[in-house]
Amino acid sequence: MLNSLRSRIALATVKKQLPKLMSADLVAELGDGLHIAIVGSGSPLPDRKRGNPCAAIIASGKVFIVDAGERSSETISRMRIEPGRIAAVLLTHFHSDHIGGLGSVNLQRWVADGDPNPMRVIGPPGTERVVAGFNEAYALDSSYRTAHHGEDIAPSSGSSMLAEVFSFPEGEESMVVLDEDGLKVTAFVVDHSPVDPALGYRFDYQGRSIVISGDTVYSLELIRVSRGADLLVHDALSPRLLKMVEGAARRAGLANRARILADVPDYHATSPQAADAAREAGVGALALTHIVPPLPLKGLDGPFLGDAHRRFTGPLWLAADGDVYSLPAGGSGVERKNLFGWGPGG
Ligand SMILES: [Zn+2]
Ligand SMILES: [Zn+2]
Repeated sequence: MLNSLRSRIALATVKKQLPKLMSADLVAELGDGLHIAIVGSGSPLPDRKRGNPCAAIIASGKVFIVDAGERSSETISRMRIEPGRIAAVLLTHFHSDHIGGLGSVNLQRWVADGDPNPMRVIGPPGTERVVAGFNEAYALDSSYRTAHHGEDIAPSSGSSMLAEVFSFPEGEESMVVLDEDGLKVTAFVVDHSPVDPALGYRFDYQGRSIVISGDTVYSLELIRVSRGADLLVHDALSPRLLKMVEGAARRAGLANRARILADVPDYHATSPQAADAAREAGVGALALTHIVPPLPLKGLDGPFLGDAHRRFTGPLWLAADGDVYSLPAGGSGVERKNLFGWGPGG
């Protein structure tokens, strides 16, 4: 009796909520300006609060995805970002945590509106191999979907991704790779050695600007390109906290894993280094992302940041999945909200 009442209430609730869910469109709700949605703010380490790296730049009603780690497409939908609005994906480098979700992001975009045009994937040399691999892996799935739903709903011409590869001119470490509808995207070289190429991107729109570092150590080229930007989104790790995880892995007999954890600080910036970069570039605000290791307790935010707040005195956040940072056109500040109810970290 109780169960059937509970079922009836559940069915009625879902019926009431479905229209709202189906018509949800974050991009339409955002005001004119430049926005970044943090889809994944974590790393390959399992983290309840943070997925693999992925961000969505939103300008002029369009969405540009930067990297697509595993489960990106799921979080994109949970953030009410309509996949049909995705204009292109930009890749920073080809570590698996940055590309693992590319196939399903493409699938969701393709079937959202039955787009007959392929999704553009823009990146440095190597992008064509990654795209070809995903296209091949998804070829059977795509053929089933077209066979099932028909060419009108799932047109075969739009199922595969299209790689757009760019190379820096000799001696150059930055270049404009996209200039459309008032949005200018500048790619620049960062240092994630031995990973090469490894890039960051700067986005300029209506006088507002956001820089995404990609994976890097403290980088002078990043500081040069970030000069005067409104918001810097920089990768960050805590060697102190990582050392604790590494020690626990070693004591548990996981020698291989401990060695990998010991190597990680070689190619990521620490929070204080990211803060130094923000100060030296004179940016307006800093959001730390690619958080390593996971921070399961709020009390760990302080140890993770170290003295970053002293080094950079502007607004500083620890990014979380579901964060949306908005830079209104004609304004000067950065507004943050979180769609999943996570409070501001940092
Ligand atoms: Zn990486
Ligand atoms: Zn990474």
